[in-house]
Amino acid sequence: MNTETIGFIGAGNMAEAIIKGIDGSGLVPAANIGVCDISSQRLEHFAALGHQTFSDAGDCAKFAQYLFLSVKPQQIDDVLDALSSQIHDDMVVVSIAAGITAPYIRQRLGRPQLQVVPVMPNTPLLIGEGAVAVGRGPQTAPQALQFVGDIFAASGKVWYIDEDKLNEIIPANGSSPAFIYFYTKLFCDCLHQQYGIDREMAKEMFCQTLIGSAKMMLAPGADIDDLIAKVCSKGGTTIAGIDGFVEKGMPQAVEHGIKACVDRAYELG
Ligand code: NAP
Repeated sequence: MNTETIGFIGAGNMAEAIIKGIDGSGLVPAANIGVCDISSQRLEHFAALGHQTFSDAGDCAKFAQYLFLSVKPQQIDDVLDALSSQIHDDMVVVSIAAGITAPYIRQRLGRPQLQVVPVMPNTPLLIGEGAVAVGRGPQTAPQALQFVGDIFAASGKVWYIDEDKLNEIIPANGSSPAFIYFYTKLFCDCLHQQYGIDREMAKEMFCQTLIGSAKMMLAPGADIDDLIAKVCSKGGTTIAGIDGFVEKGMPQAVEHGIKACVDRAYELG
C-alpha cells in the first residue's frame, strides 16, 4: 500500500465513487483518506468506513498531500477562498469540477507553481466502469500525474490528455451518460407509445444492444463506418432508419448539443 494522504473537499456522488474505488483497490489505507463536507451526515457515513473526517476545509487541506476539489463548479470559488492559506506547493490539487481550469485554480489560490491536475470523470465510476480524462499540464510531476491516474484506475479506465482539452472531452465522458440515457429514452418512448412495445423490454433490449455494439466498436481493428455498413444492407430496414435520422437533421442536432455542452463548460470556468 502507498503512504500518500488523499483529501476530498465535497463528499457527494463523485467523491463517494472515487473513494469506493480506492477502498476496493487498497491503493492507500482507509485512514489515509480524509473527507470534508458541509453535511454532518455525510461525514458520519465516511467515518464509519474508517476515513478521517473534517468539518473545516482548511483542516482537510493540512491533512492531504493530494487534495480533491469535488464540489459543484458554482461552489468552487468559496472553497478556494477558504483553502488559500492552507495550500502549499508540495501538495497536489485535483479538481473534478467541470470547466474549472488549472490556471484558474492557481490564480485564485495565488500559487503560480502549484501542481493542479484537472480531471473529467463520469458517473459510471459508481459501478467501476468510469471513463476518466486526467489533464496533463507542464507543472505536474510525472509521479503525481501517475498517482492521480492510479486513483481513478481503481474505478474505471483512464486517459491522459492535455489539460487545455478537458472541456472538449466532456461530451465524450462527463456528460455522455445522460446523452446515452436520453437517446435510449427517446427510442423506448417511441417504441412504446407508437408501436405498443413493452417499455421495460424495449429498454433491456436496447441496453443489451448498446453493450454488444460497444464491444464490437472496441474490438481490435474495428472501424465504425465498416460496422455501420455491415448492418445496412441495400434497401433494408437499417439504411431506411439512418436515412430518416439524417433527413430530420440528427447530425446537426448532435453537433448543436455537443457545442452547447462545451460552451457551458467554458462559461463555468
Ligand atoms: P454533489 O453530489 O453535489 O457533491 C458535492 C458535495 O459537496 C455535496 O455534498 C455538497 O453539499 C458539498 N459541499 C458544497 N459546498 C461545500 C463546501 N464549501 N465545503 C465542503 N463541502 C461542500 O456533486 P457531484 O455530482 O459529486 O459533482 C461533484 C463535481 O464533479 C462537480 O464539480 C461536477 O462538475 C463534477 N462532475 C460531475 C459529474 C456527474 O456526472 N455528476 C461528471 C463529471 C464531473 P450540499 O449538497 O449540501 O451542497
